[in-house]
Amino acid sequence: MSYLERLNDKQKEAVLCTEGPLLVLAGAGSGKTSMMTCRIAYLIDELGVSPYNILAVTFTNKAAGEMRERVDKILAGLDNPRTSDNLLIATFHSACLRILRVHADLLGYGKDFVVYDTSDQKTVAKGIIKDMNLDIKRYTPQYLLSVIGDCKEKCLDPEGYLRVNGENFRSKVVYEVYKAYENILRKNNAMDFDDLLLNVVRLFEREPEVLGKYQRRFRYIMVDEYQDTNTIQYKFVKYLAEGYGNICVVGDDDQCIYEWRGADIRNILDFEKDFRDAKVIKLEQNYRSCSNILKAAHSVIKKNRGRKDKELWTTREDGDKLVYHLSQDERDEVRYVAEQISKLKNEDSKEGRPLGYSDFAVLYRTNAQSRAFEEGFRLRGIPCKVVGNLGFYDRKEIKDVMCYLRLVQNPKDDVSLERIINEPKRGIGEKTMEKLKALAEVRGESLLETLSDREVTAGLSAKAEAAINELADLINGYHTEIENMTVAEIYDGLLARSGYLPALQAANTVEAESRIENILELRSAIDQFQKEQPAGTLMEFLEGKALASDSDKLPDGNEEEDEKEKVLLMTLHTAKGLEFPVVFMPGMEEGLFPGFRAMDRPEGLEEERRLCYVGITRAKEKLFLTGAKGRTLYGKWTSCSESSFIREIDPILLERDTPVEPKKSVYRDGYAEKPSGSPFRGGSSYAAKSAGSVASGIMSQNRSASAPIALSAGDRVAHAKFGEGTVTEVSPDGKTGVIIFDSEGRKKMALGIAPIKKI
Ligand code: ATP
Ligand code: MG
Repeated sequence: MSYLERLNDKQKEAVLCTEGPLLVLAGAGSGKTSMMTCRIAYLIDELGVSPYNILAVTFTNKAAGEMRERVDKILAGLDNPRTSDNLLIATFHSACLRILRVHADLLGYGKDFVVYDTSDQKTVAKGIIKDMNLDIKRYTPQYLLSVIGDCKEKCLDPEGYLRVNGENFRSKVVYEVYKAYENILRKNNAMDFDDLLLNVVRLFEREPEVLGKYQRRFRYIMVDEYQDTNTIQYKFVKYLAEGYGNICVVGDDDQCIYEWRGADIRNILDFEKDFRDAKVIKLEQNYRSCSNILKAAHSVIKKNRGRKDKELWTTREDGDKLVYHLSQDERDEVRYVAEQISKLKNEDSKEGRPLGYSDFAVLYRTNAQSRAFEEGFRLRGIPCKVVGNLGFYDRKEIKDVMCYLRLVQNPKDDVSLERIINEPKRGIGEKTMEKLKALAEVRGESLLETLSDREVTAGLSAKAEAAINELADLINGYHTEIENMTVAEIYDGLLARSGYLPALQAANTVEAESRIENILELRSAIDQFQKEQPAGTLMEFLEGKALASDSDKLPDGNEEEDEKEKVLLMTLHTAKGLEFPVVFMPGMEEGLFPGFRAMDRPEGLEEERRLCYVGITRAKEKLFLTGAKGRTLYGKWTSCSESSFIREIDPILLERDTPVEPKKSVYRDGYAEKPSGSPFRGGSSYAAKSAGSVASGIMSQNRSASAPIALSAGDRVAHAKFGEGTVTEVSPDGKTGVIIFDSEGRKKMALGIAPIKKI
């Protein structure tokens, strides 16, 4: 059992304690997951347990995959090699899906039920809102779905919801929607993600025989990251464990980072009460990090009030101090990080091998921060990969708005038009779309040309007709104006007038808010482009972005090898359970991390601090914390102040490699001039303003589509940029005109879009 020799006594004790309930409560990097992996191997190898009788639950599919790999490796290396066939290592959702595929009929579903994803759920919710004649602004699909999801997490059916919330106007509406939603899913033989868990718990409650079957099957149950389980996941585990009672959970209360999604820290803290005679093992030795990193993590987490104090120790050397670097702005921050990577790459790591790109990880608080890194790294030839989430330019909202821009540049781009024709919804169904495409084909025109024909759109429903006419005018108008406007002006105008931004604002949900943030983040990229190339055109901007977003797809040899040799970019949440020799935590600024959104809840700051603890403890050898004096994030320049977490790190563990600025106001003033173009810049901190206010700024400057102003030849007009001039021609439809400006000469303009007034 050579695999056990590597473990310390406490870990071994946990591996050998196979019978009865066991809680391993221990800090980061203390070998909990490693212990669990060995425990599985030990059960199979030493106790002869069939893999079929073991269930291991992990938090992500990635973690499940890694654990299986490690188990397989141990089993394959035995004198008498074994396989892990039939061993179930899965996330809660996938474990439940498996069970339901076998027994869904007992709950009245067909076994071939489908699983609805978020967009399917939205479609259902919208239908209900329409059928019930609800005000979609007051009852957005997202709001209703989040209430329903919340109920399901707490095992509340519609009646249960009403009981808990009392009967009032709003709760009765939600109750009706919830009921209708359930009916529709039923009728369609569909389950949403929350149903997967809820239905298994229901199944266990209603069908003792089925429960008995699984209780007998899963003689040994193990759950990693137990601190982040919610009520329904807890119930699932509890039911199964009532069979043999061999339940082992591992976790760290200091790493609970999903409270905002219903994770209940009490599940781990109350384990001893829930499972009688539970054994508790604490691991205190950290094997992952150098001592300075570990001490720094402790100096931060000990500021949390609601925690049991525990301190990890290590026999590893002190290692380097943590480095804190203050940059000028987000691009300077990326430059700094890139420089450190280039400097350290190929240096020997403490493990005695040279550091490769994949030994570096950049862990940020919000997805929007990834853009600057993706772009900056590509520029400098540092290969990188965004983990667990789409790269910035792969996100739906970014693709959508890029398609609007592409279409303005090239109105013949049918593919882009098809993508955005119903973004936001314009009431063009699939069949209509097919007909329109066929018509354009017959007429030998682009789709937009066909749609610009009022006789064609007259054949659509009234709503679609109006919406498509407006869209066609908008795209054609901006195309005409392309030379007269900056990229930023075009972008803002399109966002507002196409209805894309207003639709997201109306949704008023966390998800929509984060889409808005990303859209505004693209606005930052435009500002940057305009700063570098003041005369840069839309075409140049689009070409640059096409290269940036496509470089991943260029053939560059062995893909698998390539995958391995990339700096990893991910959010702190995604990094849970992982480790890297060198970690960068950018954006250490008040309002960004800790994030101002977290402050909505009183426990928010403590959860942010746990997230910071998770981040710091990912590092094995080196940790760089960086921040900027100011940054353009969500399309807005903001001056920043240092994150309170930096101050919480024991100063003797931290090396500041930039001189501390005496007064914040120095750079605030110095920088007020720096960013160009943005009409929305302000000195306010993130804490004071969210992306929403920037979006409102764009909206107020670009009110919804206005009819072209009525002009005729000979009229004098004033243009915001070109000054005064005389109209010489107006097209028969009144949409475009030619104006001779007194100083700028002749220009063709879109009369509904160009900023002109009749004088
Ligand atoms: P987290 O809380 O971040 O999930 P963890 O407690 O699950 O961490 P592991 O990921 O299992 O910790 O282990 C952290 C590191 O320590 C890994 O690199 C692992 O290989 C190593 N390790 C674990 N146990 C030992 C041991 N007994 N001796 C040497 N190294 C160990
Ligand atoms: Mg772990």
